Amino acid sequence: MVAADARLGADRLRRVWDNPRVQIRFGLGIRERLQTAARAGGERFAAGRMFVERHALASAVHDPRREGGRILCYHSVGQPEWGVNDVAPARFRRQLESALESGFRFVPAADLARADGGPRDLSITFDDGARSVLTTAAPILAELGIPFSMFVVSDWSENGHRGMALDWDEILRVADLGGEIGNHSATHPDFAGLSREQTLEEIGGAAELIEKRTGIHTTTFAIPLGQSANWTGHADEAARELGYDVIYAQAEQTRPAGTVARTFVTRYDSPRIFSALLRGRFDDWEEWVSPDWRLR
Ligand SMILES: [Zn+2]
Repeated sequence: MVAADARLGADRLRRVWDNPRVQIRFGLGIRERLQTAARAGGERFAAGRMFVERHALASAVHDPRREGGRILCYHSVGQPEWGVNDVAPARFRRQLESALESGFRFVPAADLARADGGPRDLSITFDDGARSVLTTAAPILAELGIPFSMFVVSDWSENGHRGMALDWDEILRVADLGGEIGNHSATHPDFAGLSREQTLEEIGGAAELIEKRTGIHTTTFAIPLGQSANWTGHADEAARELGYDVIYAQAEQTRPAGTVARTFVTRYDSPRIFSALLRGRFDDWEEWVSPDWRLR
């Protein structure tokens, strides 16, 4: 399944590389050069590929039509240990300000998820409960009057996740600042590989621990990794049985059936790429490289 998805992703990317506009922008032979780099392997190559891929797609396709609102998926802001998921604070602020200047209106994500909204509606979400949501992102959002949601991994908040994740008291502070708190599982597994019992334990166990530690009853769930291959029919059933009526993907058009679309924002999203992202140029894009290093 993962291999099949990788092939689909590679086919999509090949179409991008073979587009004359991309060849003009990045020079002939870019695919060959990347394949040479790939032989060296590893995270640095994959991150570089993500960088080039984002730029290429921003150049290569037309703006799709869109009717509903858009929910953005961030992770950390000014915490480089989160890798490609980290957005620099100045860039984060600029993204919000540019969206406001362009006439977008920020609304709570759950409102958009449940009622769809209009094409100028935007929402902000954060996966993983990263420390910088409290220390850096929330103050910027408060200053600009923007609501947001944050999805926590209960084991990471319980044990600190090497200092990268918020603890329970800090999560309560995020909630006090107006952040909606949602569930992002107990250990951040790939649900594609879990039995029904393990699935119930991951979602239900996290719900119980979040409520026990903070008193917060969660009603929204964000799928770890969040791509089409990371979710199953029995996971969807289990989440709904446990009371989650909103289940977020981390993709737009390639998300699992029945889930709510989100647009992933990466560390490479310059003002130009962010503007393209708001116009839907990455809506057909799905991260397809190894899950070992990429999305959290
Ligand atoms: Zn995550």
